[in-house]
Amino acid sequence: METAYEDLVRVYEKIEGTPKRLEMTDHLVELFTSVPPEILDKVVYLTQGKLLPDFYGKELGLAGKLIVKTLTFTTGIGEEEILTLLREKGDIGLAAQEAIENKKQTALFANPLTVERVYGNFMKIADASGSGSQDLKMKLLAELLHDSTQLEAKYIVKSVAGSMRIGIADLTMIDALAVAFATKERRDDIERAYNVWSDLGRVAKLLAEEGEAGLEKVHLELGTPIRAMLCERLSSLDEIFEKLGECAFEYKYDGLRIQAHISEDEINLFSRRLEDVTEQFPDIVSALRESFRGKEGIVEGEAVPVNMVTGKFLPFQEVSHRRGRIHDLEKAEKEYPVRLFLFDCLHLDGEDLLDETLTDRRKKLGSAVEEGDDVRLSTMLVTENKEEVEGFFQESLEIGGEGLIAKALDSPYVAGTRGWNWIKFKKEYEEGMVDTVDLVIVGALAGRGRRAGTYGALLMAAYDAEDGRYKTVCKLGTGFDDITLAAIPDRLEEHKIPAKDPKVVSNMKADFWFSPEVVLEVLGTEITRSPVHTAAWDVVEKGAGLAIRFPRFTGRWREDKGPEDATTVKEIVEMYEQQEKVKS
Ligand code: AMP
Repeated sequence: METAYEDLVRVYEKIEGTPKRLEMTDHLVELFTSVPPEILDKVVYLTQGKLLPDFYGKELGLAGKLIVKTLTFTTGIGEEEILTLLREKGDIGLAAQEAIENKKQTALFANPLTVERVYGNFMKIADASGSGSQDLKMKLLAELLHDSTQLEAKYIVKSVAGSMRIGIADLTMIDALAVAFATKERRDDIERAYNVWSDLGRVAKLLAEEGEAGLEKVHLELGTPIRAMLCERLSSLDEIFEKLGECAFEYKYDGLRIQAHISEDEINLFSRRLEDVTEQFPDIVSALRESFRGKEGIVEGEAVPVNMVTGKFLPFQEVSHRRGRIHDLEKAEKEYPVRLFLFDCLHLDGEDLLDETLTDRRKKLGSAVEEGDDVRLSTMLVTENKEEVEGFFQESLEIGGEGLIAKALDSPYVAGTRGWNWIKFKKEYEEGMVDTVDLVIVGALAGRGRRAGTYGALLMAAYDAEDGRYKTVCKLGTGFDDITLAAIPDRLEEHKIPAKDPKVVSNMKADFWFSPEVVLEVLGTEITRSPVHTAAWDVVEKGAGLAIRFPRFTGRWREDKGPEDATTVKEIVEMYEQQEKVKS
């Protein structure tokens, strides 16, 4: 029996209608248990608005004008009218839903849509390339719209437009999987499986087919990126020693995190967002081939651009030029030579090392890598002596590092989670600033005077991993040079949406809204209670949230971070608590 696509979209409607995580979970459980296990992976991807996890690089996005054209010839409504609908409704999916009503009288021979058929056509749309591909894509979309109900059309069009955001956080999906196919006690193991495979659809299918016993099968695989281990922050060495005792300190390099999967005939490089970036760094690939002494392995490190004359590190932006740049690679390599500083080893010659201690993993890393000019191990100091660390910290800053990361010697590699096994200690803390935070642009206020024509300030939000929403923490208007400022509207254009995204929680009205996609690094002086901003609402004080005071843009577009990698509300609360502790 094939599954009706209508069943999916009915659940999407219910999910869209509730902000409550528990209710969402219930709806998802109902969905997951009602579809046959063999298509559950596809159902999960469709629900996330994807075809596959991001590391497959399979993108569905169809240009807006092709969608409008397709709607025109499936409904018989003119292009102008469709565009008017789009303006009225503010969303191409809602416009399609309305437009399709017109079609209903004419399509007598509709063949109800199944999940398999919708997914199949989406896949073909993503795969179509070369001459004639635009027509083919439109034809594939038209086929679906011809047979769709109004509600189905809404979600089909949202999906192909890349705007399928019904606001479900990964953690909510995991909760629902635990309820549907396992016991509460195994919830964390499901999260771990997700962190190792980075693929919710695959984990869901495994659970549906094999129940929780299937979890035993989840191991590291060469070629499948693992979700990165993340760090907490503390603002004094005393606190770090209190937490970790004797521990390892490493330079905190300021570059791009790279996870390298090395086998005998292939090397794959993944970014922190788990995108495959192998093609952008052929020099790292060949340097790793040269240095790696094992047969196969997974190693992790930070790629940093280096000034070959002085040996100092260059700013992060120099590397970001390289990203997405496929032409002129040779020139780019010379302009921005990159050195890889390895700091972890997750797999070596058939053995998973995730559960081994840092000390052992580091030993294995040392044995597997012969250091050269382009591949080095991170500089590390194991100590419990504060003065020694202070000197080491200064050294890190002198060569262009950001500070240090302290690591618990006996800790395993905990994929995908932020924890106290790794703690960062950065130079901003010394200057009495709060740490930099990575915030998501969710809105903008129109500029006046000198800023007419561009934005006066951006409305910035932190990510709330508890409910998968974005909560505002500041208006950001300083730190932009004139060129950046003038370029911002263009840069944000593709993310512009007519109304506040359902995932954004804001008490502030903005003149422009954006879907939460773009992450900027921001430095503030302090975290204060706020009657307006919605981050940590009611947490520190009833009827108040937390805000960043005197925020300024540091100049860094964190292209290596997705919106869910932004600083979380929980981190902001922790930063606030630390700051209050220091004050008292
Ligand atoms: P942040 O993005 O500020 O939370 O800092 C964490 C990031 O620092 C990691 O994701 C890495 O990309 C980077 N990093 C730099 N040096 C190291 C190191 N020695 N060990 C671990 N992570 C490092």
